[in-house]
Formats: sequence, C-alpha cells, structure tokens
Amino acid sequence: MDKKSKKFTRVVEDFVCGHCGFEVKGSGFTNHCPKCLWSKHVDVNPGDRAAECGGLMMPVGIEVVKDGYVITQRCVKCGHTRKNKSAPDDDYEEILKLSVKKIM
Ligand SMILES: [Zn+2]
Ligand SMILES: [Zn+2]
Repeated sequence: MDKKSKKFTRVVEDFVCGHCGFEVKGSGFTNHCPKCLWSKHVDVNPGDRAAECGGLMMPVGIEVVKDGYVITQRCVKCGHTRKNKSAPDDDYEEILKLSVKKIM
C-alpha cells in the first residue's frame, strides 16, 4: 500500500499576518490569522501555494458546520472567494462579529 493521497498538501510554515501583523505559528492546516481571520490568496487548492495573486483575503462571512465553523473569505485584490475551515485557536470574538455580518 502506498499513500499517494495528494489532495491536501500539508505545509508547515510560520507567517506574519498581512492585515494585523500577528505572528502566526504554522500548524500546516491554519492558513489564516487566528486574531483577525484574514489570510492571503496564495493557494488554488488548500496548501498548494499555486495562486499568483498574493492579495489579502478578508473574512466576509461565517457558517456553522457540525464540527466547527467555515469562514468565507474574499480576496481584496482579485475578488476571489473561498471557504476556509476555522481553527480551534481562532479568536472567538472575531467569529462572533462575522456571524452577525451579512454577506452581500
Ligand atoms: Zn491578523
Ligand atoms: Zn486574489
């Protein structure tokens, strides 16, 4: 049996949030800032870093799913939207703020 499941590329890297400047410790799964929930448009598929845009992605909405939250983010540069699973260490206040916002 060889494991060749390449759907999710796990990249562990630390990064500095482009929005609030928080130093994010990479877990390999979190690609957004736990403090302000912004991220960067760097992936086409999660973790692949194949997008050339590099714009900041603003959290615009949140959905409650059975095992947590899914954050909808929109790139401020190109308008691309994507859904991003929230991480357990995400700032709950920010999640609450998002949950009362309406997505246009
Ligand atoms: Zn941030
Ligand atoms: Zn973009």
